[in-house]
Amino acid sequence: MPTASIAKSGNHDLWLQILKEVEPSVKRPHFLTWFQNTAILSVGKKSIVIGVPNIFAKDWLEHKINTDLLEAVQRVCPAVEELIFEVDSNLALPNDSRALNVNRHFAKNAKKVRKLAGRREVKLVEGVSSKCLNPKYTLKKFVVGPNNRLAHAACSAVAKAPGALYNPLFIYGGVGLGKTHLLQAIGNEILKNDSDQVVVYMTSERFTSEIVEAIGKRNSKAFKDRYRKVDCLIIDDIQFLANKDRTQEEFFHTFNELYDHNKQIIISSDRPPKELSGLQDRLVSRFEMGMIVDVSLPDYETRLAILHAKCREHEVLIHAEVLEFIAMNVHESVRELEGVLLQAIAQAQLEHSTPTVRSVAKIVKKLGRSKEVRGLIESAVETSGIEIKSAEDIIEVVSSHFRIASDDILGNSRKKHIILPRQISMYLIRTELKQAYEQIGESFGGKNHTTVMHAVEKIEDLLKTDKRLLGDINSIKKEMGL
Ligand code: ADP
Ligand code: MG
Repeated sequence: MPTASIAKSGNHDLWLQILKEVEPSVKRPHFLTWFQNTAILSVGKKSIVIGVPNIFAKDWLEHKINTDLLEAVQRVCPAVEELIFEVDSNLALPNDSRALNVNRHFAKNAKKVRKLAGRREVKLVEGVSSKCLNPKYTLKKFVVGPNNRLAHAACSAVAKAPGALYNPLFIYGGVGLGKTHLLQAIGNEILKNDSDQVVVYMTSERFTSEIVEAIGKRNSKAFKDRYRKVDCLIIDDIQFLANKDRTQEEFFHTFNELYDHNKQIIISSDRPPKELSGLQDRLVSRFEMGMIVDVSLPDYETRLAILHAKCREHEVLIHAEVLEFIAMNVHESVRELEGVLLQAIAQAQLEHSTPTVRSVAKIVKKLGRSKEVRGLIESAVETSGIEIKSAEDIIEVVSSHFRIASDDILGNSRKKHIILPRQISMYLIRTELKQAYEQIGESFGGKNHTTVMHAVEKIEDLLKTDKRLLGDINSIKKEMGL
């Protein structure tokens, strides 16, 4: 039916023309939301019928911009006096050719950066989209140690001057050692310095599926053209391109195109280029043209520094010895290190306590990595709760929780890190064993009952506001099986 299709495309163009008129007077987010999938359904002598995909769009268009829209319509079709809005839910279907895709037609001069609920979405040249730049990955938050110093330095240099120094930048290393973090951090940094840069981050699997899609639609030229507009192309986990010849072919061309124009290319892999079997030699030799850096397993000090950094990031306070314990026992990857820490935090929050060496040891054991858990007596992991019968029992649990000697608790030291555990012990003996103040004073080397009273009151007072203390006391009680 040639007439119908002419009418259809005629309306389509007319609507596009009208929307170009109206666009400047509507805020961009509103414009993109409410005109998406709209269409002119019919044109009468004095009215036009505008189809909208849902009642909300109808409501907004009718009430918020009816006059502006009518004026815009009249600039194009002066005879029109009335706009009629009709809901047609078919317009929202992806294959309804009547509906106008404003996101496509009104993509802001090819590129635009916008923020989406914490995650930076980079809207790119028509058809290329890269979400996935997670703002939490920054160079600043990356803890540097001997295992990744060079990689970090190379990333910082590339972020400062993309395309100028190390091109391509190739980062390799085992699972969970920070490759994705570094890659995304460069992307974030480049955009921070210049939000007009077109940064594309994607995994090689995603790249493959885009190519497959393009081939399916027989428009691999369009695919190539789109990638020409990219300033920085980041491909994560390139090893997955192994044996995908057609994808490698396309990637090779994209690579050359970008490289020849001094556009930055950054690649990560689980192994060095030479060991990438299943990858064409010409690609491997391209990778070797630039800078190759590795990330390896962090040593104990770096692991500990990472744990401290993550605690700051999550705004939690955890005893140093607990972090030391994790650092000592989790050494396979930073992801695991972070995982144990997050589990410990979550569990402690659930139980209103703070993580202890004992509670963390259980989590580490579940990982099943090391047969023996270092820094802890095996039996201590298994026992859950000791029977508490006397003041001595409580003092013992408190002293081991704070990693101090019970003699210190019983002594007269005025050091802060001793006084608090002492007062906690008095408080627990009073509240759990219901002993008289005098009797408690006796257990503590004959201290005056007012000292004990004062200690108990102080802890009670602190508990009203001090979350950390509350956590400590809950953990101690848990250790005592209370
Ligand atoms: P990969 O891509 O190498 O498998 P990721 O980049 O996904 O590893 O890292 C796993 C987790 O460990 C991420 O949450 C990342 O932030 C964290 N991480 C890795 N290395 C570091 C580091 N040096 N400093 C801070 N966080 C790190
Ligand atoms: Mg990764």
